[in-house]
Amino acid sequence: MLLQQEREEIVVFGRKLISSNLTTGSGGNLSIFNRHLGYIAIKPTGVDYFLMKPEDVVVIDPEGKIVDGKLKPSSEVSLHLGLLKARQDIHAVVHTHQVYATTLACLNWEIPAVHYLVGFSGNKVPLAPYATYGTPELAENIVRSIGQYNACLMANHGIVTVGADLNAAFNVAEELELVARLYYQTKCIGEPKILSDQEMEVVTKKFATYGQPVSLP
Ligand code: 13P
Ligand code: ZN
Repeated sequence: MLLQQEREEIVVFGRKLISSNLTTGSGGNLSIFNRHLGYIAIKPTGVDYFLMKPEDVVVIDPEGKIVDGKLKPSSEVSLHLGLLKARQDIHAVVHTHQVYATTLACLNWEIPAVHYLVGFSGNKVPLAPYATYGTPELAENIVRSIGQYNACLMANHGIVTVGADLNAAFNVAEELELVARLYYQTKCIGEPKILSDQEMEVVTKKFATYGQPVSLP
């Protein structure tokens, strides 16, 4: 099976989106770009994450043409292709409807540096203007708004995150849900103190060496 490992990863992380409360139903989507082979594995549209099998994951080329798979690809295919083509530093894209980040997106707010973990995105999480789901206009808005950040809120819709691999993009979504919740909760009872751009620069540099120097077996 073409891109077997990537298709299996999409199934595993799709289930994690549900079990980690980052999306509901068949909402949200994930993709991995194998730049060596030049093909992308992407979630099929409208399929329950717990029924999805690796062979259901669709393999497409960078123009969106189906290379392998029987199902229709995600309706957000142009968003995934737009980001994977615009950002040479990334290999995976995750889009979710996670509740706290989406709450802020429905207010059309950005997420400022209310907690240092916003560094998973950069010095903030920017906001992309609203456009109908699955449209090239939405994809353009997101590519323009995300710039070099690792995440972008989608007005009245959700959030998109990117990473060097699917695990990294998933982690960005998970950590930013905590930050979004903290921002929401602090706004409920007061006015949060926002970290400076200078401090966030220190934090994002330090993130590069966070964790173990070699991966554990
Ligand atoms: P798909 O099921 O087509 O991936 O769409 C879900 C979604 O979140 C649309 O924005
Ligand atoms: Zn969506």
